[in-house]
Amino acid sequence: MSAEKNYTEDFWRDVASRIKESLPESDWKWLERIAFVSFDGETLVLSVSSRYFQEKARGLEELISNMCSETAGAQCRTEIIISQQGAQPASPSKPAAKAEEARAHEAKSEPKTSRFKPEYTFETFVPGNNSDFAYNACRAIAQNPGQTYNPLLLYGGVGLGKTHLIQAVGNYIEKNTPLKVSYKTCLDFVEEFTDSVMNQKSGNSGPAAFRRKYKKVDVLLIDDIQYLERKVESQTALFDIYNTLYDADKQMIFTSDRPVNELQNIQERITSRFGSGLTVDLQPPDYETRVAILRKKCKDGKVSIDPEIIKYIAENIQSNVRDLEACLKKLIAYSDVLKKKLTLEEAKRQLKDLISGTQDKSGITIDLIIKTVGDYYNCTPSDIRGKKRSQSLAFPRQIAIYLSHTLTDFSLTEIGNSFGGKDHTTIMYSIEKIEKLIASGDGETQRSVNLLTNAVKSKVKDIK
Ligand code: ADP
Ligand code: MG
Repeated sequence: MSAEKNYTEDFWRDVASRIKESLPESDWKWLERIAFVSFDGETLVLSVSSRYFQEKARGLEELISNMCSETAGAQCRTEIIISQQGAQPASPSKPAAKAEEARAHEAKSEPKTSRFKPEYTFETFVPGNNSDFAYNACRAIAQNPGQTYNPLLLYGGVGLGKTHLIQAVGNYIEKNTPLKVSYKTCLDFVEEFTDSVMNQKSGNSGPAAFRRKYKKVDVLLIDDIQYLERKVESQTALFDIYNTLYDADKQMIFTSDRPVNELQNIQERITSRFGSGLTVDLQPPDYETRVAILRKKCKDGKVSIDPEIIKYIAENIQSNVRDLEACLKKLIAYSDVLKKKLTLEEAKRQLKDLISGTQDKSGITIDLIIKTVGDYYNCTPSDIRGKKRSQSLAFPRQIAIYLSHTLTDFSLTEIGNSFGGKDHTTIMYSIEKIEKLIASGDGETQRSVNLLTNAVKSKVKDIK
């Protein structure tokens, strides 16, 4: 073999078609993401578009080197690099090309099931100690779908980033792999299933076709599975799809607004599967994270807002990132119209409606209650918000929930959000528990409640 010989892409096509003969068809897709760069008679340099494909292609490296050696008639090695432009698939030989074309056409004509917001990516998500675990689990899954945590269940109250994260995984996988990703809100899933039942008679769009379609995906993302409650037929279809995908190591992620054991009217065999992989909750962000999120959103939106205003929003909106965003959007729209920078006083006036609903008139916040109760019982705010069931934490948590109910105007759902995304029935249970203790004449509980009420009120005065 002459090192001077000028090998072209045709050489790689020969090698690739030999490799295909020894690979199952389902693995061809990896091969097609690999592009020819050069071959000098000894080293075959190939490129792929991302680290993900590099890992995948390395699984084929030995086979590629062997086939390359056979084709070239000399001992060869393979190097797989990442190319910024991304890899173009090597064109297959002619008869194969027709089949490939037909397959590509089929893939294109299939309705695209995923609909991701382009801005829901890992880069735009600001992790904090409330969401670190969820964020890292999602990143790990995006980089290795089906091979790390499967299924993942993300749960937490409204506006805490569940949809953002599940879509960030989808966005990432779609951009970096050829995997077929299906993202559905649970409502859309149920609606599509119901339509399929109505089309029972038509073989192409009946329930069997519905199941077949979902069994073919590589990654299934279903948002807000609490809406499966009472949808018995849809539950059965999902159960069947789940089992097929799970057995084939296909990645699944589900989100829910509450822990699985609080989902009602969903068959136990399904809830147990939702919770059988990794379950992670999203908590409301703490003050520092709220400031970081607001700053990041200003930076990404290329707007500058006075740090005092950022501080004001972060102090007053505690339980929900969506509300933080709403405040920011309102101020940005207002200052756009006025074409001038806002003062803190103007901002306060503008945000009056948005903020008064989340803070008690007296200025008492749930964060303040949690901090005060934590100091008194010698535990941290995240212990109080968390879900450890030990008596030493359960009681302070119930007291904090009770005080949040008696000292602020927050609804049970809002209180639930501030306590790690708890269901309003859990909040109700805690409040009733403390009320019953007080009614039964439990002096210790009564004393603690009085003392803590006074402590919270006096701290608010200090802040004011
Ligand atoms: P959920 O699905 O939990 O109700 P979303 O994912 O819809 O919440 O989040 C509500 C809004 O808040 C979205 O616009 C999302 O981009 C934003 N958001 C939530 N958490 C974060 C975060 N940690 N960093 C940046 N934006 C966030
Ligand atoms: Mg959501």
